[in-house]
Amino acid sequence: MEAGAASFERQKTRQIMVGKVPVGGESPITVQSMTTTKTHDHEATLQQIYGLAAAGADIVRCTCNSPEAAEGLARIVPRSPVPIVADIHHQYLRALEALEAGVHCLRLNPGNIRKPEHIKLVAQEAKDRNVPIRIGVNGGSLDPALYKKFGDQVTAEAMVESAKQEIGYFEDIGFDLIKISVKASNVPLMIEAYRQLSEVTDFPLHLGVTEAGPPPGGIVKATAGIATLLSEGIGDTIRYSLTADPVQEAKLGRQLLEVMGLRKRKNVDLIACPSCGRAEIDVYKIAQDAQDAFEDRKIPLQVAVMGCVVNGPGEARDADLGIAAGNKRGHLFVQGQNVAVVPEDEMVSTLVEWAEYIHAEGIEAALDRAKSTKAAARKAAEEDRQRNLGERGEDANDSEQLVHLMRNKSRDSAAD
Ligand code: SF4
Repeated sequence: MEAGAASFERQKTRQIMVGKVPVGGESPITVQSMTTTKTHDHEATLQQIYGLAAAGADIVRCTCNSPEAAEGLARIVPRSPVPIVADIHHQYLRALEALEAGVHCLRLNPGNIRKPEHIKLVAQEAKDRNVPIRIGVNGGSLDPALYKKFGDQVTAEAMVESAKQEIGYFEDIGFDLIKISVKASNVPLMIEAYRQLSEVTDFPLHLGVTEAGPPPGGIVKATAGIATLLSEGIGDTIRYSLTADPVQEAKLGRQLLEVMGLRKRKNVDLIACPSCGRAEIDVYKIAQDAQDAFEDRKIPLQVAVMGCVVNGPGEARDADLGIAAGNKRGHLFVQGQNVAVVPEDEMVSTLVEWAEYIHAEGIEAALDRAKSTKAAARKAAEEDRQRNLGERGEDANDSEQLVHLMRNKSRDSAAD
């Protein structure tokens, strides 16, 4: 785990190297994604790989489904900023070609390449080159023999058995540079399969919910599966499999690890209030604008957008920086202390400017910078706070009135 980011105790796994990136053991949990370009189009694929790396992918997988794709890999690997995994579907020959092309890892699906002699041949070649292999079991393409053995259904036990069989073939030739996935599109099934697998092996595990689908449903499924396992200490590398731009997969993977405290924050963690009857701005819009503005800035701070100055600064006092809306103006605060007042249409640009300043100079310097404006900012915030309370009252959402009505209603029906 990275320094200062520990939050869940990880199950102990062995460490392997995918190119220069360690996976398993004590190494940080990594993010993977997969290109959607034709691998033989190496320029387009490299362009996507660069985009994925910039978005947070530590490792990228490319399909190797033809001899031309393997040639593409030979051109891609030396220029890629991150290690490349070749995804082999049905043809063991493609695996041999991908190794020849210099890939840093293979992914084999035991349900698709089933002849032990082919599997061992590939593993022997990988062993000679010191290249790891991911055993990528997929609930949707389980070996038919195992499917039958487990009652004509995909079960966690069947997926684990598939992985164990493949490990057996590898061990026959003394190959142990292995990582494993047991993905399914059904979240409880996938969780159970990984739980069982982690009981019987210490090879590093690659987590994912396969064919999760388009956002937002796909994000919910993938997060439910991956986060549940990570919170149990299971998982060494993760992938969101979405029907969406893979850049989004890489960003989400990175974000999930950051919010779970499993990777050091690299990006802004934007928090925002849900808005309510007290809001002085369109919180949804300003929060979205702020999110867009911070999107590509690598600033590891927590930044808050709050709809009112009555509760905003207090509720977001743990944020490094935030802004709360007042009377057509924004009250900027650093770690809960008011530092400046800006016009409403400058709220987002001011947040960005201060975030960049804090990132470069630190919190203390930012508070120091506001030495001469702090008192006036605090006074202005208090004025807007009092005005909001005066106009909207203590009960801006009319909750108490509603509760009163509900109580009267239930009393009336009791009397009937
Ligand atoms: S009270 Fe203020 S900060 Fe809290 S949800 Fe409402 S507008 Fe947002």
